[in-house]
Formats: sequence, C-alpha cells, structure tokens
Amino acid sequence: MNADISKKFVIEKAQKSRFHEVDFENLLFGKVFTDHMFECDFVDGAWQTPTIRPYQPIMVEPSWKVFHYGQAVFEGMKAYKDENDQIFMFRPDQNQERINKSAVRLAIPEFPKEWFFEALNRLLVLDQQWIRKGLGNVLYIRPFVFATEPAILAAPSTTYKFMVIMSPVKSYFRGDVSVVIAQHYSRSADGGVGAAKAAGNYAGQFFPTNLAAKEGYQQVIWTDANTHTYLEEAGTMNVFFRINDTLLTAPVSDRILDGVTRKSIIDLAENEGIPVEVRKVTVHELVAAAKDGSLKEIFGAGTAVTVGPVKSFAYDGVDYPVIPPAESYAARFKERLLNIQYNLAPDPFGWRYQVTENNY
Ligand SMILES: *Cc1c(COP(=O)(O)O)cnc(C)c1O
Repeated sequence: MNADISKKFVIEKAQKSRFHEVDFENLLFGKVFTDHMFECDFVDGAWQTPTIRPYQPIMVEPSWKVFHYGQAVFEGMKAYKDENDQIFMFRPDQNQERINKSAVRLAIPEFPKEWFFEALNRLLVLDQQWIRKGLGNVLYIRPFVFATEPAILAAPSTTYKFMVIMSPVKSYFRGDVSVVIAQHYSRSADGGVGAAKAAGNYAGQFFPTNLAAKEGYQQVIWTDANTHTYLEEAGTMNVFFRINDTLLTAPVSDRILDGVTRKSIIDLAENEGIPVEVRKVTVHELVAAAKDGSLKEIFGAGTAVTVGPVKSFAYDGVDYPVIPPAESYAARFKERLLNIQYNLAPDPFGWRYQVTENNY
C-alpha cells in the first residue's frame, strides 16, 4: 500500500459545534453536514498525513483533473445508534473493499484499509451527538476520492484527495414508486464502469431519469445496453423481483454494482428458506408474470432507502401495476435489516460493526 500507515492522524477539533443550529425534524437529504470531516492527499506517490478538521470548503484549482475527466469514486454508508448510545455501522468492510475496487477501475490509487477504519471511527466518535437515537434517525457517511492534479492533459492524475463527510438524515417513508423499463438509454455497458461507484455513472443517469420523470415515472429500470432485454438495476439501486414465492435478481457483472444491501437480502432470504434465483431476468418474463398474476413484488435495494418497493412498471407504453401481498418480502427484509442495523435483534451473520474510540 502506498502509505506509511504508522503515521499519526492530525486532529483539529471544531471550536464550536453547529449541532444546535440544525432543525432535525425537517432535514433535507444530504444538505446538512456534521462538525468534522476527514481529508488525506495522495502526493509524490504516497498517501500523506490523515487529517480530521472542521467541516469547511476546500480550495480548488480550475485545472484539477476531476473537473475535466471525471476521475472520482465514492461510497455510501450509514451509522446507527441504539437505545444505549452505542454506535454501529453495517458491513463497513464491504464498502472499504468496494471503494478500492472502484478506485482501481478509474486508475486511482487504493486507500489504506487501516486509515479508512480509523477515519470512520474517529469521525463518528467526535461527531457522535449527530447520530440520533430511534428508528429512522441515521447518519449518512460519504467517503470519496478524486483527482487533484492541476493539469488538463488527458492522463490519470498524479495527485488525489480522499475525504469523508457525514450528513444526518431522517428516513421518511418515501412512498412506493412507479418505474419505466429502459428501451433506449443505458447506465453501463460490457467492459465499462457500471460495477464501480464512479461519480460519472450518476451524471449519465440524470438526463434519462429526468425524461422518465416528465412521463410520471420516478425511476428507470436499467436493462443491458446491447439488447435491452435483461433487467439489471432500478435507478441507483439493485433490483429484486418476486414471481410467485421465488425471489429473483440479476447476477453482478461489470455492468451491475455489487450492492451490500443486495447481497444481504440474498443471505436473509436463503436463511428464511425463501427460494432465491440469482440469474438473468428478462423483460418478457416480467411482462408475462404481470399478465398472468404471478408477479407479486418488485423492489430496489440500496443503502439510501434500504428497500424501496415499486408499485408499477411501464414497458412499451403499457403500465403494469404490481400489488404486493400482505406478506410482503420487501417489508420483511427491510424490517430484518433495520433490526440488525439498530441493534434491536441478534446478528447471526456478524454484519454489525461497533464504532468505538479505538476499533481499528
Ligand atoms: C450504491 C449503489 C447500489 C447499492 O449498493 P449498496 O451497497 O447496497 O448501498 C446499487 N446500484 C448502484 C448503481 C449503486 O451506485
């Protein structure tokens, strides 16, 4: 690893907390940030001193490569507090591995695992009052890394900045969404960057998602770029289908992001004896199941909403309603995940990670 990991963190504490200025009952997702942030620069072929300082703007140069060539990847994680003020994260090892996989795909140097965990533990302990108790209160954590070389030559940057910022959010009931199946646009392609959490993947989705919104659909179900016949992801989430009592989801590939929520749901389903098929699912199969009544549920899976039910899908200009049975898989998996995340239930899989002053 390109860092001297024995280096000590430099910590500059905020003089005064902004906590009391925040209206926690009316939080807009990702608009308010905690008192501190983490920052570490890659210079001269190595990650330099890891630093925690008060959340503040950074100075940028207009020539930074990230602005011109989009060399940037990120992660999305959450921290939860239980009734005894203990702080937990959910499978953070998965995010740590994934940000480095994403980085490799974008020719960005990997960040040391030890520092990733030390940064998160230290930040979360420092800003622990920002994680509020109670189901629905959560702290969203955004690690990200981007190219900072001031040069517009189209080649990988020689310098980078790794940062972590954190935002308190409230998970409101979002409401079930209507989706449209993509028949023209794509979010990823074979051999592309779809499996990386690359910033540009999101930029590329905004325009087709806006077009869908004009037609009254909140999300797009992405299909394979070549044939538009295989169902791959729902917006920025992995997607599950329930046909009769079988749970179906596409295998991960270089077009599909390997989501932590997705793989956890597969494990939960197998643990409960629910039949799971990880295989390609076609649009035609979905339409046929909607027509003959065997399609029971569609839901997205991702850290932001955990599980997001879909109430209808559109294909070839026809809307198909999806009416989940009372015993909904989406509701069941959401509850099981939340209970593990908030330390309200045993954790047979060892997914919960306790945050402490020195858990790294
Ligand atoms: C982040 C993301 C997901 C969900 O991954 P989780 O690890 O479950 O949060 C799914 N698809 C895409 C495209 C993503 O960017």
